[in-house]
Amino acid sequence: MGSVSRREELAANLAAVRARIVAACEAAGRDPAGVTLVAVTKSWPAADVEHLAALDVRDVAENKDQEGAAKVAACDDPDGRLRWHFVGQLQTNKCRSVVTWARVVHSLDRRRVVDALSTAAVGAGRTVGALVQVDLAPAAASRAPGGAGPAPGGRGGAAPADVPALAAAVADAPGLRRLGRMAVAPRGAPPAPAFARLAELAAAVRAEHPAALWVSAGMTGDLEEAVQTGATHVRVGSALLGARPSTG
Ligand SMILES: *Cc1c(COP(=O)(O)O)cnc(C)c1O
Repeated sequence: MGSVSRREELAANLAAVRARIVAACEAAGRDPAGVTLVAVTKSWPAADVEHLAALDVRDVAENKDQEGAAKVAACDDPDGRLRWHFVGQLQTNKCRSVVTWARVVHSLDRRRVVDALSTAAVGAGRTVGALVQVDLAPAAASRAPGGAGPAPGGRGGAAPADVPALAAAVADAPGLRRLGRMAVAPRGAPPAPAFARLAELAAAVRAEHPAALWVSAGMTGDLEEAVQTGATHVRVGSALLGARPSTG
């Protein structure tokens, strides 16, 4: 399969995803301009990112530092038009590298990572957009503040009880610009009620910190539910690029 046909394939996939976003916005009475598509390119080559960039995709996400850093370096993007996002689980020892290529980190889930990312951003002379990832698994909702461990069925993130303190830490952290909330729908539960809880949390934080406007929610399988409940950023991988090899 040559690159021209891959470009055509990606163009068709992109048109279909954009149509889904527009339809979901219409159903929700929302302006499609309020929903940004973030293409999750993990496990796909830099050439695919270049195709997407040529098709006017600006926001691209990776979930691993090593793969992300290598892909950014391999991408031909002389005008710096691409905005790279980090959406994976973040380890403190990766922060120094992540701030060199990611302009937005969606997955701040504990205080130590907020502090490490802040230190790294200041050291690199950068400002990084930061979202607190919320664990929407039902069992996480009853976790006390500071309670340990991810909830069963959870997809990572801080327990809702810990979110206000983490959000405040991000707001106070030099080098970080607080943007909002992110979540991945829990496994084995309908996404809509989970995303509705995320929207409530986001609204509560916005009341105190009006600049925290982003709600990053929704993927290939549930972007409609996410748009319905107010997502501002949907993170779409397989509907755009195809099914990932099982490692993805
Ligand atoms: C892989 C990934 C996505 C995209 O998932 P698809 O189902 O392929 O659209 C979105 N968010 C995160 C955090 C991911 O790791």
